[in-house]
Amino acid sequence: MPFENYKFELKPLEYQYNALEPYIDEETMHFHHDKHLQTYVDNLNKALENYPEYQKWSLDELVKNYQRLPKELQTPIKNNGGGVYNHNLFFELLSPDSKIDMSNSLVKQIEKDFGSFENFKQQFKNKALSVFGSGYAWLVKNKHGKLEIVTTANQDTPLPLNLCPVLLLDVWEHAYYLKNQNRRNEYIDKWFNVINWHKAEEMYLKDCV
Ligand code: MN
Repeated sequence: MPFENYKFELKPLEYQYNALEPYIDEETMHFHHDKHLQTYVDNLNKALENYPEYQKWSLDELVKNYQRLPKELQTPIKNNGGGVYNHNLFFELLSPDSKIDMSNSLVKQIEKDFGSFENFKQQFKNKALSVFGSGYAWLVKNKHGKLEIVTTANQDTPLPLNLCPVLLLDVWEHAYYLKNQNRRNEYIDKWFNVINWHKAEEMYLKDCV
């Protein structure tokens, strides 16, 4: 299925829309996935429509190397390619079955780099709260294999900074406004209950583009 290459399609969720209740509600999941993500998919396809040479690039390549594209394509790809990349990853990193295996190699690395798992959670939450306007908080792996928490604005990704995504939290208001209104802190606390740690470890262990 064309989730990694043009012509892009909406990647289905791997769980039911109501599976993350009561932490993330069904209505939010429908809007977020079926409306917001669909719009990024459509606009990404539109941006590439007349550029057969760049239709061959994978989504990861487009997002990481958007600055190498023709000037007029850079912003549309950064925004809409980023929108598709970030949302696909965000939804994949959610799960109704969110148990943490403390022997998991990612958890071990988190404890090493942040002192303790609780410290990591607090630091991640503070970073996510610090995003002004729309954006994301990320747990990333740097080129030395060390974990860092960073934020990006809008639909930017950490890939052009040579940072590999491990975990991300969408803090655009559309991700939480229906249920939590302006209470981003409440949404962040709930999100910690639906993280797909199995997938996060997979991300941590693989090398990104
Ligand atoms: Mn979103």
